[in-house]
Amino acid sequence: MSEHTITVAGVAVDTRHWIGGERVASTQTFPDVSPIDGRTIGEISRGTATEAAAAVAAAKAAFPAWAATSRAERARILHAIADGVEKRIEELAIVETTDNGALLRSHRRGVMPRVAHNFRFFADWLQSLDHEDFDTRGHTNHVSWDPAGPCVLITPWNAPLMLATWKVAPALAAGDTVVLKPAEWSPLTASLLADIAAEAGLPAGVLNIVQGYGSEIGDALTSHPDVRRISFTGSVPTAKRIAASAAANLTPLSLELGGKSPLLVFADADLDLAVDLAVEQYDNAGQVCLAGTRLLVEEPVAEEFTRRFVEKASGLKQGDPRDEATDIGPNIHNLQLEKIDGFVQRAVADGARAVIGGHRRDGQYYAPTLLADVAQDSEIVQEEVFGPVLTLQTFTDEDEAVRLANGTRFGLAATVTTGDPERAQRVTAQLVAGTVWVNCFFVRDLQAPFGGSRLSGVGREGGTWSFDFYCDLKNTVTAPKGWKDHG
Ligand code: NAD
Repeated sequence: MSEHTITVAGVAVDTRHWIGGERVASTQTFPDVSPIDGRTIGEISRGTATEAAAAVAAAKAAFPAWAATSRAERARILHAIADGVEKRIEELAIVETTDNGALLRSHRRGVMPRVAHNFRFFADWLQSLDHEDFDTRGHTNHVSWDPAGPCVLITPWNAPLMLATWKVAPALAAGDTVVLKPAEWSPLTASLLADIAAEAGLPAGVLNIVQGYGSEIGDALTSHPDVRRISFTGSVPTAKRIAASAAANLTPLSLELGGKSPLLVFADADLDLAVDLAVEQYDNAGQVCLAGTRLLVEEPVAEEFTRRFVEKASGLKQGDPRDEATDIGPNIHNLQLEKIDGFVQRAVADGARAVIGGHRRDGQYYAPTLLADVAQDSEIVQEEVFGPVLTLQTFTDEDEAVRLANGTRFGLAATVTTGDPERAQRVTAQLVAGTVWVNCFFVRDLQAPFGGSRLSGVGREGGTWSFDFYCDLKNTVTAPKGWKDHG
């Protein structure tokens, strides 16, 4: 074990970058703090423009050989990475929980198996990416999905490895090489992914990982002329910065951003289901981009809905995310808690009423909060909080429900609960959102398009949409033998 290795819950994690198949240390480090107890887990190599340039150079050097491998060979290696993830699910789960405070039980049973599935899915989907050739006046059109080149992938902390591998897997499958920059608040599982990928036989330089503060290393990655794609998941302000930086080279961007999604409860809905779905929005301590944080309830059932919601939410167990019985863990960082509390206190000062919560708890925890008496144009209804804070509004008819639902600058997701399938169709047709769930939430198939409208993003990920982004599509038109007419 090198001096750069730390032990996290018994798991060895290298704190250095991974560039060109080697571990590279920076002279400076940044502290990685666990939200569980606020203690520093370790000091992590803190990259700057130097490491960014080295990582892009490594990705560029590795690109021709990787792009030239067959689809089948790339798929073989991606499946081997998935095998490695599956072998290390327990380790990945406990390291991620220590790093970002999300529930160990969901990491074990949901998130880490999904990480392996990301690799398997995109490896297999790639095999089906062929178009039938087609004919134009005797000429054959052949469409090919060519690898695009080095890609920069920048990811957030709320589901670090899951979100990173949504990008890494299709990029590698497409034949691209990658520089991944994980979030500075949760860099550890990306480092473990480097180990797993190397063990699986991924050639040096195909996957590179650089760590550091976005403000220090970000621009050097996103303005680099050798980068052919930038895929970013994170906040709107950072996305604007990245878009400006990428504009220098017109580098194509995929942006998966924030949300302020509505959850609509019509009077004809199964109220128990609606309440269950509403309480589910506190998952991951509210740090879910898709969360339906605006509860919109039809007037006649609002009182009963609220009574049942309060009863159910009061039963949630908040505490150590390693404990199997815990429902809500800590929030990621003290700065995030201050931000959350700032939103809530300003809303209350503005006339909102805390039906439940509305305050911090000891440690890095925020009480699950429901705010009523909020105006549509208020900050708390319009801005993403990214904490366990929901708002409650009522509506009197479908038109008003749709108007409130669509009345923010975001358009990531929406949930509709109703017992009337025709109403479901009418309403969903009018909603502005990348994903709409009817009487369910968080059901996600990798072959479906995923992304946001308006400020929630640019582009879609998933299935063929991912390959649309990570490939340079080329149409080759071949004339029939002996064809002479150039006119
Ligand atoms: P963030 O924008 O602060 O940071 C995201 C990443 O960008 C981090 O790795 C950070 O280091 C990096 N970064 C920061 N400044 C940069 C710069 N100038 N250049 C390049 N990179 C830079 O977001 P966050 O707080 O980590 O994540 C929370 C946000 O992510 C929320 O808005 C949430 O809704 C969103 N999110 C969206 C999705 C989705 O799929 N739509 C999924 C998860 C999270």
